[in-house]
Amino acid sequence: NTKAPRLPSFLKTSIPTSESYARIKKDLRGLGLHTVCEEARCPNIGDCWGGKEGQDGKKSATATIMLMGDTCTRGCRFCSVKTSRTPPPLDPHEPENTAEAISRWGLGYIVLTSVDRDDLADGGAAHFASTIQKIKQKAPHILVEALTGDFAGNLECVSQVARSGLDVYAHNVETVEALTPFVRDRRATFRQSLRVLERAKEEGVRVTKTSIMLGVGEQEDQVLQALKDLRKSHVDVVTFGQYMRPTKRHMKVDRYVEPAEFERWKKVAEDLGFLYVASGPLVRSSYKAGEYFIENVLR
Ligand code: SF4
Ligand code: SF4
Repeated sequence: NTKAPRLPSFLKTSIPTSESYARIKKDLRGLGLHTVCEEARCPNIGDCWGGKEGQDGKKSATATIMLMGDTCTRGCRFCSVKTSRTPPPLDPHEPENTAEAISRWGLGYIVLTSVDRDDLADGGAAHFASTIQKIKQKAPHILVEALTGDFAGNLECVSQVARSGLDVYAHNVETVEALTPFVRDRRATFRQSLRVLERAKEEGVRVTKTSIMLGVGEQEDQVLQALKDLRKSHVDVVTFGQYMRPTKRHMKVDRYVEPAEFERWKKVAEDLGFLYVASGPLVRSSYKAGEYFIENVLR
């Protein structure tokens, strides 16, 4: 069957309206920041930017910022980011400018992510770490999550980012082990990703986190095994979302997973001991990350 399945109604979303969303959008102008939320037209922007105020007054509004440019040295089959073997050099002012802009912005939780930079000797680890250190100097109250690549298995790079003062270290395995060669760039492996997450935990990071896309052809027992492997590597948090094909040139959606199945995986993962689990058709790894962290970790 070569026909793509039809888009079910639970994947259609409405325009966000919350007050917090409008305010953050206004604040963003002039700060020179590019959010993944806006650029990827993420359907969760109302939920994430809306946020909530926790009991301790901590704000949970969450946004994701992309560092190190818009061109990746890898080409994963699900991802719409453009690819080049030789992306432009890093902007040496980016850590300072990003930290300055973020500290002036009314957010509680920031996810910093990046393209993979296999062209750089340290994969951009120093740049990542310096951005986090600068944010924490200027605005210690802002919770920071780094969502990194696998640094081609260079665990020293993982350590450098993990020791920068962040609150959450995230690295996405994206899919089950058997499908990894068909879904991710051939330089990525499931085992290498587990080692990245293990190293972050060894460095004393409070929360480690990963994400799995459903609907790319995975079998139930493979998902269960992936969850067990992740727990064995002391990963604290897992998120599940539906794979959505960015363009016709990307791999096909195998199936649209029903909300009830996402609920079931949430329960399975919680029973395996994950600290918290976000699971749903539109969930992305940074989905309401601030809200989840404040409710489950700072409580
Ligand atoms: Fe932004 Fe991530 Fe939330 Fe989407 S899920 S709005 S990219 S923080
Ligand atoms: Fe996209 Fe990340 Fe893969 Fe690069 S490494 S192609 S940014 S998913």
